[in-house]
Amino acid sequence: MSKVKLNKVELSRAEHDANGAEERKEPGYFGEFGGQFVPDTLKQALDYLAEAYAKAKADPGFKEEVDYYLKHYVGRPSPLYYARRLSENLGGARIYLKREDLNHTGAHKINNVIGQALLAKRMGIKRVIAETGAGQHGVATATVCALFGMDCVVYMGEEDTRRQALNVFRMQLLGAKVVPVTAGNRTLKEAVDAALVDYAENYRDTYYMLGSAVGPYPYPDIVRDFQSVIGEETKLQAVEQLGRYPDYLIACVGGGSNAIGLFAPFYHDREVKFIGVEPGGKGTRIGENAAAITYGRPTVIHGFRCYAILDQDGEPGTTSSIAAGLDYPGVGPEHSFYHATKRAEYVTVSDQEALDAFRMLSETEGIIPALESSHAVAYAIKLAPTLPSDQIIVVNLSGRGDKDALQVYEMIKNQKVLS
Ligand SMILES: *Cc1c(COP(=O)(O)O)cnc(C)c1O
Repeated sequence: MSKVKLNKVELSRAEHDANGAEERKEPGYFGEFGGQFVPDTLKQALDYLAEAYAKAKADPGFKEEVDYYLKHYVGRPSPLYYARRLSENLGGARIYLKREDLNHTGAHKINNVIGQALLAKRMGIKRVIAETGAGQHGVATATVCALFGMDCVVYMGEEDTRRQALNVFRMQLLGAKVVPVTAGNRTLKEAVDAALVDYAENYRDTYYMLGSAVGPYPYPDIVRDFQSVIGEETKLQAVEQLGRYPDYLIACVGGGSNAIGLFAPFYHDREVKFIGVEPGGKGTRIGENAAAITYGRPTVIHGFRCYAILDQDGEPGTTSSIAAGLDYPGVGPEHSFYHATKRAEYVTVSDQEALDAFRMLSETEGIIPALESSHAVAYAIKLAPTLPSDQIIVVNLSGRGDKDALQVYEMIKNQKVLS
């Protein structure tokens, strides 16, 4: 037991250097947020994982291996691209796009699953489980399992398997087994429960792959570290192309992985402002949005402490967003901490504003953004004209919009939105 604790302490020291989470009082905490609020069986599994991750992180060979696949399989580094026409049309600050949409499989999620799959491989584990709602994380997980020859089981609410039939087929093409979960409302929450039961029972030969910078310790650290390649590259590219760091970093926030990956490497660079964009949906009432920091409050959900949207009974509230990948009632503990300490500002963008940005970026730059990423683009479109022309904004373009084209087409056809 004390060995596990020692490793955790070591890990938290390493974090100190990596991203400046020095305000942590205990490993696994960002101020008052984070932690491990789980039953003992699960705690054992998480401690086992934390220890394995600390060892991997201390080994330069592990980083080399991750970097190899990021370069040759994912296609990194992703460009930092000056959106000239968009910037000039708006007037004001210059907008640069960090092109995570150009990664293999079309989004930032692959950075994280490559890292976690290589961690599982190091641990000698050949069976991977995951849970998925909209299916994007399930597809990313199935992709790396095919790449590394691992068995893959994806839990998905039965209702979601119907709504996302194409993603179910993608996962099957990639060799994964999709298990429809028939309990409760048959959506993400029940899928998470099923995955956790499997994990607690089988953790010595099963790796639970989490898709965002959420969940109990050590997941928020692991996911942040693997996504930090986004911010690390941005630093180098900004210095190379601009001779300095950007003034603003803007990213959409669901669970918060693409945003924390961009922000964390700039944590100590206090002159660089962070803006996290939450899904404002259709309105401010419960059920109309998924903006956990803006409309939520500090609480414990899904095994960790964070801001979350709660209903009248104190249970995770219902949420909605035009972007399936942002539709989650909580937010990562590190973002909760950035908000509480004012290191970052969190704003909302409505469904309609995201749609308008989806169109504007397509028309001005020939880049169709994911609806999730369109939230970040929309806020940049509002902010840029208010700033002088020597200011630089970097927007994390977390994914491409091909996956959303049909959804937007249906909305236009039904004249629900746009004209
Ligand atoms: C899943 C997803 C997101 C939201 O997840 P985060 O963990 O908040 O980054 C954002 N953009 C795209 C393209 C996604 O697929």
